[in-house]
Amino acid sequence: MTGLVDSHTHLASRQFKADLPQVLERARQAGVGAMVVPSVDLNNAREVLAIAEAEPDVHAAVGIHPCDADSVSDDTWVDALRELARHPKVVALGETGLDYFHAPPMGFTASAWRDWQQRLLRLHLELAVELGLNVVLHNRESWQDLVAAVAPFHGRLRAQFHCFTGTLEAAKPLLEAGHLISFTGIVTFKNGGHMPATAAAAPAGSFMLETDAPYLAPMPFRGKRCEPAYVRHSAEKTASLRGMTLAELTDETTATARGFFRGLGVPVKDSG
Ligand SMILES: [Zn+2]
Repeated sequence: MTGLVDSHTHLASRQFKADLPQVLERARQAGVGAMVVPSVDLNNAREVLAIAEAEPDVHAAVGIHPCDADSVSDDTWVDALRELARHPKVVALGETGLDYFHAPPMGFTASAWRDWQQRLLRLHLELAVELGLNVVLHNRESWQDLVAAVAPFHGRLRAQFHCFTGTLEAAKPLLEAGHLISFTGIVTFKNGGHMPATAAAAPAGSFMLETDAPYLAPMPFRGKRCEPAYVRHSAEKTASLRGMTLAELTDETTATARGFFRGLGVPVKDSG
């Protein structure tokens, strides 16, 4: 069987500063063969790339998170991001997207903040097309606007709608356009909403697994710091929901991740 992929894990978070080597070791012990680390702003992207340079199984996505859209004040970031995206360990752009849940930062009205996030999102999508990269998308209480912003790019790029918690019905038009969804540890929660049903029924090849570490630890670690090793708990739960073995689910989701993230290497483990 191949290793699992944690397709969204914030290893450059402050919360991993003290013990990153141990976190990575536990992930490898748990059967994680590759980790994709999205960035939240340009400085964070440089930290993510430094980790990816040191660790063969860590790959980077570079971008500006909608909640950090105020880290830039004009469009010059696009040139900086284009430069960062040339790094050989970059497998996607992101995370970008929209977040209408958190209050706007100082200096922004609610509508100006939404407009600014939408501008950054559109420029990320245009850059992704230019560079031939796929994108990692964040959504919080912004679903309709996010889907509308991506629609003009159908066929020109693929998007990972990360931490997807909706119904398969809601995902269908996106999956048909070649996009993917990914499931966090919420799939293991007793009150996981639509997640278990969506994870059970999503077509093979349409979804990936992720931790969103340090957030959203699966059962039995719910409420604690999440780490990439725990993607295995979500994988086991998803496999059982789908009536598959962990090995089958791993092979399927890892193949999906390889097809999505440019140049994602996942070592094939021997069966011993
Ligand atoms: Zn994230």
